[in-house]
Amino acid sequence: MRITTLGTSHGDPTYCRFNSSNLIEIGEVHYLIDAGAPVDALLVRADKDFARIKAVFVTHMHGDHVAGITTLIKMLLKYPKEGQHTDIFFPEAKAYPALGAWLKAMHLKWPSPLISTNVSKPGQVYADDRVTVSAVPTRHMENAGNVFSCGYIIETEGKRAIFTGDLKGDFSDFPEIIREEPFDLCFCEMTHFQPEAALPILMDCPIHRLVFTHIHNPWHGDGERTLREILSPLPYPFDIAHDGDVFELPPSTKGTDA
Ligand SMILES: [Zn+2]
Ligand SMILES: [Zn+2]
Repeated sequence: MRITTLGTSHGDPTYCRFNSSNLIEIGEVHYLIDAGAPVDALLVRADKDFARIKAVFVTHMHGDHVAGITTLIKMLLKYPKEGQHTDIFFPEAKAYPALGAWLKAMHLKWPSPLISTNVSKPGQVYADDRVTVSAVPTRHMENAGNVFSCGYIIETEGKRAIFTGDLKGDFSDFPEIIREEPFDLCFCEMTHFQPEAALPILMDCPIHRLVFTHIHNPWHGDGERTLREILSPLPYPFDIAHDGDVFELPPSTKGTDA
């Protein structure tokens, strides 16, 4: 599994960071976690083939995580290749009529046999012959009508990664499963909570490697050094993600090492 943090900013794009999107490559097949803008352009810059995107998993319906989906779909429809098909997972069913209306307003043919639309719910949401994907609820959207929001667990080749999605300001919805079970890679947002508040919880998690993304303004530029100092007590390796950073997770040699 090869993960590229395509866009690593907080709610707004910044000079050096764009909105949230992550590319997962397993062999020749691509998956996306979130589709913030400009996910299509970042995939072009990374020289990726849109026809290889098998599924897109959206953590929640905030624009910085989903606003790139229309131009991504445009690229999927414009240059189809034989055998191409993409599953899209939104956490709210009501997003699809709105998406369809906007795609039609852009004079795209919708719906399309190239794309299936699905709604995420807690537990396993997707599986193919390479990967299993499960949704883990968060409470990030509690103040927005308490609609569903989630992180995603990716399991493949005997390895396991998790993306937390956005969390609550008090870090109370940091998923229990990360506190209890080992993950080879954990991608955690770093905007909605104070790192000092999260540190005692993170210290006790059996995480192998932690990657902070969705990076808030105070941690940009020179602030990154300050953040590293705050997080330095962590008992495992950690990274502060930038747009285009790549994280390799080689297949396990003996099934699962969890
Ligand atoms: Zn966000
Ligand atoms: Zn959000």
